[in-house]
Amino acid sequence: MASKIIFFTVNGIPERAEFPADCPAQEVKDLFRSAAEAGPHDILKLYNPKGNITNISPHLEPNSPASCYQLQVVAADCNRQPLGAEMAGALGFDLSSMEKRLQGLEKKILCEAGDTPAAVQDMKKQVEAFRHKLESVEHLSWLGFFKDLSEGPHQPSPFYHKRTLHKTREECEHVRETFLQMSTLEVSEELRQYLKTPTFDNWQWEDAEIMVLLQVMYTDLDFLSTFNIEPEVLQQFLFEVYRRYNNIPFHNFKHCFCVTQMMYGLIWLTDLRRNMENVDLLIMLTSAVCHDLDHAGYNNAYQINARTELALRYNDISPLENHHCAVAFEILERGESNIFRNLSLDQYKRIREGIIKCILATDMTRHNEILNKFKSILPAFDFCNKEHKDLLMMILIKVSDISNEARPMEVAEPWLDCLLQEFFNQSDVEKLEGLPVSPFMDRDKVTKPSSQIGFIRFVLLPLFMELANLFPCLEQHIIDPVRKALDYYTEMEKALDREKQNWSQSESVARTKEAAVSRTNSQTGPGPEPPNPETQ
Ligand code: 5GP
Ligand code: MN
Repeated sequence: MASKIIFFTVNGIPERAEFPADCPAQEVKDLFRSAAEAGPHDILKLYNPKGNITNISPHLEPNSPASCYQLQVVAADCNRQPLGAEMAGALGFDLSSMEKRLQGLEKKILCEAGDTPAAVQDMKKQVEAFRHKLESVEHLSWLGFFKDLSEGPHQPSPFYHKRTLHKTREECEHVRETFLQMSTLEVSEELRQYLKTPTFDNWQWEDAEIMVLLQVMYTDLDFLSTFNIEPEVLQQFLFEVYRRYNNIPFHNFKHCFCVTQMMYGLIWLTDLRRNMENVDLLIMLTSAVCHDLDHAGYNNAYQINARTELALRYNDISPLENHHCAVAFEILERGESNIFRNLSLDQYKRIREGIIKCILATDMTRHNEILNKFKSILPAFDFCNKEHKDLLMMILIKVSDISNEARPMEVAEPWLDCLLQEFFNQSDVEKLEGLPVSPFMDRDKVTKPSSQIGFIRFVLLPLFMELANLFPCLEQHIIDPVRKALDYYTEMEKALDREKQNWSQSESVARTKEAAVSRTNSQTGPGPEPPNPETQ
C-alpha cells in the first residue's frame, strides 16, 4: 500500500507527515498530536488551505508544500491550577493535600507546644522547595509541556533546557574565582573611557569580566573612598548580585549590567557629579545594579493573573519590583556584602529610601504617572529641590532600564530577540494555564518591527525627549540612535508586508490550480468528510 505525504504547518513551522494509506485513524491522529507536541487531552484542529476545518484521518487529501494544511493546538485541559500542581498530579503527588496535612499538623503542635518544631519547619521548607522545582520552567520540557523555543523563528536560546533557572553552585563558584583573579588586574584607561559611553558592547564580555567592569564603575565614581567601601565587601556584594540574577533570556545579569552601564554613562555625559550629591549617584548606580534581582521571566500581569506567591505577598502592587528591592536589601542585610556598612544610620536610611523609590519606579504601569510629574516640574527644574531630584533619579533609571534601542544596532537587536523569547515563553505558559495572554507577547501576533515601532514612538521617544530637554547634550547619544532604530524597524515592517503579499499571491495561484484539479476530479473523487467532534 502506498504511503501518503501531508504537508502542514504548526505555529508557522513547516512539517511533513508520512503514513500508509491504510494507517488506523488513531495512529494518524497520534502522529499529528506528536507533531504539535500536544498533550493527550489537548484538542487539535486541522485547517485545509481553504481555511475549513478538516478531519484528521487516513483519508486526508495529499497535498503539496504550496497548499499546506494548518495544524493548531487548543489546550483544552487547562484548569487554573498552577503548572507545578499539574505536574505534581501527573507524577502522582498531591501537593495541596501534603500542604494541608502539614498545616493541620503545625496547628496541632502549636496548640500543644506553643512553638513550631524544627522538624515541621524543615518539612515545610521541603514541600516549598519541591513546589518551586516543579514550577520552574526548565523542568517542564521533559514531559512535553513545553515547546522547544529553539525551533521557533527566533534565535535559539542558550538558556531553556540547558541550564536551571537559578544558578548552580558550580556555575557561581567558577565565575567568582575568575572574577576574584581578574579583579586585581589593571583596567586600561581606554576601556575605562569606553565604559562611559552608550555605545558599549555588552556581548563581548563574560560574566566575571562584567563584574570587574561594575567594580570599575564604583571605583571611578570614587564611591570606595567617599563611602568607605572595602574592596572585598564590594566584590562580595557584586557576587551575590550576580548569583541572584537568573538564567533567563532577558532579565538576566547581562541586562542588569546594561542598565547599570547606561546609568553610568548618563552620569558622565550629563556631568551629574556637578549637580547631584555623591550619595544620590550611589543610590542611582546601586538601584540599577539591583533593579531586576531574582526575576523569573514572568511579568506582573502574569504574577497577578496566576495569583503567584509574589502577587499574594505584595497584594498585586508591583509584585516584581517589590521583590527585586527586597532581595537587594536581603543581600545588604549581610555584613560581608553590605557596601553601606560603614555609613551612619541616617545615611543608610536615606540610601534605603532612595533605592526603594528608584526600583519601584521601574514598574512600567507607573510610566505615565512618573513622566507627567517630571514634565510638570521641568520648566522650573531645580537641583536643590528634593522632589525634583527624586523625579530625575526615577526618570534616569527608567531611561536606563529601557535603553537597549539607544545602543548600536548590533548590540540592540540581539536584546530584542532575548526579550521576545521571554515574552513568547510567558504567553505559551499563559495559554497552557488558561490565563489571559497579553497580545504584545503572543508569538502568533508579534513580529520584531511590530514590537518595536509602537514602543519606540509612544514610549521611548517621549521619555527620552523629556530627559534631553533637561540635558540637550543627550540628543546625539540616546535620541539619534533610537530614531535610527525606528527607521530600521519601519523598513523591516515594509519588507515583511511585501513578503506577505508575495506569499498570499502565490497562495492564491496555488488555490486556483487546486480548484481546477478538484473540478476535474469531482465526478470520481471522494465526497467531503463529516467533521469529527474529537478533533475540533
Ligand atoms: P524591565 O524593568 O522589565 O526590565 O523593563 C520594563 C519593560 O519594558 C520590559 O519588561 C518590557 O516589557 C519593556 N521593554 C523594555 N525594552 C523594550 C523594547 O526594546 N521593546 C519592547 N517592545 N518592550 C521593551
Ligand atoms: Mn529591567
